[in-house]
Amino acid sequence: LVSRESHSARTVVRVADATIGGGAPALIAGPCAVETPEQTLAAARMAATAGASLLRGGAYKPRTSPYAFQGLGEAGLKILADVRDATGLPIVTEVLDAADVDLVASYADMLQIGTRNMQNFALLRAVGQAGLPVLLKRGMNATIEEWLMAAEYIAQSGTLDIVLCERGIRTFEKATRNTLDISAVAVAQQLSHLPVIVDPSHSGGQRRLVLPLSRAALAVGADGVIVDVHPTPETALCDGPQALVEEDLAPLREMLETLPSAL
Ligand code: PEP
Repeated sequence: LVSRESHSARTVVRVADATIGGGAPALIAGPCAVETPEQTLAAARMAATAGASLLRGGAYKPRTSPYAFQGLGEAGLKILADVRDATGLPIVTEVLDAADVDLVASYADMLQIGTRNMQNFALLRAVGQAGLPVLLKRGMNATIEEWLMAAEYIAQSGTLDIVLCERGIRTFEKATRNTLDISAVAVAQQLSHLPVIVDPSHSGGQRRLVLPLSRAALAVGADGVIVDVHPTPETALCDGPQALVEEDLAPLREMLETLPSAL
C-alpha cells in the first residue's frame, strides 16, 4: 500500500490547513515536551515566527529513565488544544500506548509514533484506525524496509495519510546523539509515495547542528523538517540542548524560503 508501485502520484498529507509533500518543504516546530501553558504558547509563537505550519509538542514522553519527566498527559493535551485555539496552528503529538489513542486523537490533528514504538504493531494498527494523519518516526535500530513495513501496518488499518520521519539511527558514532541517515530520505522517497521529513533535533541532539542538518535535509529533497524550539532551553524538562532559540528562527525561515528554489 505504501510502495511507489501501488501509487503513481506522490501522496500529499493534509493536516487541517497544512500540507506535507508535493510542494514547498513543510516546517513543524514546537517544544519537545509540553511543560506549562506559558512555555507552550511561547514556543508556538516561535514556531510561527520560523514559518511553521504545524505545532509539535509531547504530552506523553517516552523517556529512557523512569525517573525523568514523563509528560503532563491529558493536561498537556489540553494545553496544546488551547494553544492551537490561540495561534491557529494544528497539533502533532506523540501517542505511546494503544489504550490512549482515542484520548490523544480527541485533541490532536496528527498522531506521532516515536522511534521507540515503530514496531509496536498493536499501536500502529490503533493509530491507523483513528481517522487522523500519522507521523511515523523511523526506529533508531530499524532498516528502511522495516520502517516501510511499519507504515504498511498503519496503511492496512485504514489511512494512507502517513508522513515518514528520519530521525537518526544508532551507530558507533558518539559525536551526535544519533546518526542522521540522510540517504534514507532519498531511498524512502524512491521506494514509497509517502512524504518523508527529517528531524534534525533528535538526530543531532545539539542546537548548533539543527540548521546544518536542516540544510542537508532540504538539499536531499526532504518534504519538510520537524524541529524543537524552546523559549528557555536552560530550564527545559526534556532535551533542552537541542532546542532552537529566538535568534535561530529567522535563519531557519530564510533557509526554508530560499534554499529549495536555489537547488
Ligand atoms: C519526539 O519527537 O518528541 C521524540 C521523542 O522523538 P523520537 O521518537 O524520534 O526520539
